Amino acid sequence: MSVYEENYLSKRPQELCHMCGRCCRVVTTSKPYFELLKLKADGDVGACEFLKIFKPFASIDEARAVDKELVDNIVEKMIADGNYDKDKLTFYTCKYLQKDNLCGIYEERPDLCRHCPSTPWVIVPPGCGFEGWLFMEREKIKAKIRKAKEDLLEMKVLKSKNQNEETLKKIEAVEAKIQGTIDLYKKYGSYDW
Ligand code: SF4
Ligand code: SF4
Repeated sequence: MSVYEENYLSKRPQELCHMCGRCCRVVTTSKPYFELLKLKADGDVGACEFLKIFKPFASIDEARAVDKELVDNIVEKMIADGNYDKDKLTFYTCKYLQKDNLCGIYEERPDLCRHCPSTPWVIVPPGCGFEGWLFMEREKIKAKIRKAKEDLLEMKVLKSKNQNEETLKKIEAVEAKIQGTIDLYKKYGSYDW
């Protein structure tokens, strides 16, 4: 786990959780079920951990019967993003969620549960107590990245005005550091912000 995620997790206000259990009752993954099974067979820790607690619903409709809003929300987003494939989409439910919405293995729950919601970009169920906070976190990071891009432009100007080799090296080192910050969020779309 990155330093960022550690910092993020430690400052996440847990009291925002409504303890509704929706993020345990119906979930899905970015990878299809057959890929998870293959990863599990290969000993992948994340896949093993996930499949140890989650069992698949027999169909999307079965998951929809449990949480229609959540399932429709995900399906609609996938359709909008152009990556909906019903044969590759599986929903799961946790074996340990109790009727009172509490976790039956709370003290021993795996890291994936302790970390959830694990980044500001994770899709949480509609009405999740973290929705607003996650949005604000995403906005803060986006603002930081935009500032980093401005700084990069300033470095460019500085370079164009400087011929001293030593100074140029220092500027390039700063540039690399700034670029590293932008790259850190590449998978969330930082190049487009
Ligand atoms: S969906 Fe959100 S509010 Fe509900 S239990 Fe999960 S984290 Fe908490
Ligand atoms: S193990 Fe507990 S916290 Fe994790 S998904 Fe199941 S009920 Fe939720």
